[in-house]
Amino acid sequence: MATIMHKILGEVECVASARSRSIRLSVKPSGAVRLSYPRQAGQRRALSFLESRVEWVEATRRKIAARQAELPHISRAEVERLRDTTRRTLPDKTRQLAARLGFDCGRVTIRAARTKWGCCTSENNLSLSLFLATLPDHLQEYVIIHELCHTVHHNHSAAFHALVDRCVEGKEKLLDRELRSYRIPVIDE
Ligand SMILES: [Zn+2]
Repeated sequence: MATIMHKILGEVECVASARSRSIRLSVKPSGAVRLSYPRQAGQRRALSFLESRVEWVEATRRKIAARQAELPHISRAEVERLRDTTRRTLPDKTRQLAARLGFDCGRVTIRAARTKWGCCTSENNLSLSLFLATLPDHLQEYVIIHELCHTVHHNHSAAFHALVDRCVEGKEKLLDRELRSYRIPVIDE
């Protein structure tokens, strides 16, 4: 792996791989650019491909920046405050819900997950995002119930959704739609 300095794009990570079949260019959420190519294609061909896609990279970076500007933002200090509160409240809340609805769950851990509100392992341990605290109570509860139902069905089968729907009194679709209107915040560096 090598990093080259492109005159317009700045740093570009170049990765020659024996396994890759074609030249691939990607832009990460941070705006960092990665160019990977089959070793046999050679860096020169990869770089001329990059040259032909400079405008695309710039447009993609603009799109990412615009999308991030629309998302809610949160400071590091605020994240730490949320971590403190959620560690004190969410595991208890989860155990109370589990008891009320008759689920048996393992450990409950709180993480600063930004891609998912929660997840359930095959050992029935629950991992919840501390950003759940940015949701209204009834949606926090809905996410926890969704994860608790995964202790019974480790998939998103019809049986799983039927169970969730029973636990939320027939409001799964409604709650799901409401949840989708919320975004996990971007953490400002
Ligand atoms: Zn799920």
